[in-house]
Amino acid sequence: MTSYVVHYQEIALKGKNRSWFISRLVRNLKEAVSDLDAGGVRAVQGRIEVVVGNADPLVVGERIGRTFGVANYSLAGRAALDFDAIAAAVLTDLGDRTCATFRVSARRADKRFPMPSPQIEREIGGRIRVAKGWKVDLEHPELDIRVEMLSHDAFYYFGKEKGAGGLPTGTSGKVVVLLSGGIDSPVAAARIMKRGCTALFVHFHSYPVLSRASQDKARQLVELLTRYQHRSRLYLVPFAEIQQQALLLMPGPMRVVFYRRMMLRIADRIARARHAQALVTGDSIGQVASQTIENLSVVGAVTTLPLFRPLIGTDKEEITAEANLLGSFPISIIPDQDCCTLFTPRNPLTKARLADVEQAEQGFPVEALVEAAIRDAVVEDIDFPVVGSTSRSRA
Ligand code: ATP
Ligand code: MG
Repeated sequence: MTSYVVHYQEIALKGKNRSWFISRLVRNLKEAVSDLDAGGVRAVQGRIEVVVGNADPLVVGERIGRTFGVANYSLAGRAALDFDAIAAAVLTDLGDRTCATFRVSARRADKRFPMPSPQIEREIGGRIRVAKGWKVDLEHPELDIRVEMLSHDAFYYFGKEKGAGGLPTGTSGKVVVLLSGGIDSPVAAARIMKRGCTALFVHFHSYPVLSRASQDKARQLVELLTRYQHRSRLYLVPFAEIQQQALLLMPGPMRVVFYRRMMLRIADRIARARHAQALVTGDSIGQVASQTIENLSVVGAVTTLPLFRPLIGTDKEEITAEANLLGSFPISIIPDQDCCTLFTPRNPLTKARLADVEQAEQGFPVEALVEAAIRDAVVEDIDFPVVGSTSRSRA
């Protein structure tokens, strides 16, 4: 078994974007294995082949499994386009594996192959049955031997792994994700990234009033998410100055909504500068006081960019399950001090009114605060799989 056969989502392949989509997926797979001693990645007749080469097949499989746009993948062998040769190669790779029932499923990538699939299945299946003495079960086989007939040779493999699904990174534009150190926003990021978007991350922190813990968590979360998109930029934006101003000038119950409006204003500015087309948050209706429909609308009113909230209708329990699958949960639960609870009372407004909040903001140097925060932000570039490639600079 020398290659992975990778299948992509057929649904996205309609129309004239097809070849662009495939070349993007090939490029992303090349990047995913670029630090391994793999043998190459190429599109072959409706699927993609990733040659394992001298790399560890398990690691190659893991990288393919984290590539968006991959529907499924299998470690496969290649054989000449000849029934005896295919059956012999299959038998060699099966080794002394035993099973009670099996089936051969054939597909013709090249429909010019002069024999329909059921007949190919019978021919190859017959040889395997004779050699092994196994029974054929077309409905519930213990072992599914798959054969794909290409123009010049054939792939064969046993079973398949489910891929990450979605669309290849880079096919749907750029978004800015507001990434706290919490459970929700990394899951929101992963959902939107799965749809082919490249994410830029913005994290607001209250250092030096609070510890650096939230920044470390944000960085770890971005490192995790970068395994899916290979290249990320994280903006670490100081927020303490804005909060100190709020302590002086903003009524206590309104502060959380005010913080959120400031966060979105800053994220909006960064998005425009980086040509990102939308903002993303981890909000879910009613989860906490700041996430009532009233408050979400007052917060969202500061930006004219599309504001995506992929978790809006998702329960905490479901989000937690997704965070566990993603691997972000253990990072998210590291204790830190959430900047949003700084200087906020226990009874925040649950039904903010836009006119009231706008009036309270009258006394604020909103523009100057936004500019100062962006000026003092620190930018980190995080790459995968090139180890140690994190770099840090001023925004
Ligand atoms: P999370 O688990 O994502 O922090 P949460 O349930 O704690 O969500 P909130 O703290 O109310 O909810 O935050 C709602 C959303 O606002 C977050 O999902 C995130 O997108 C954004 N947000 C909140 N705090 C920050 C922050 N410090 N930096 C960046 N974005 C933030
Ligand atoms: Mg939070």
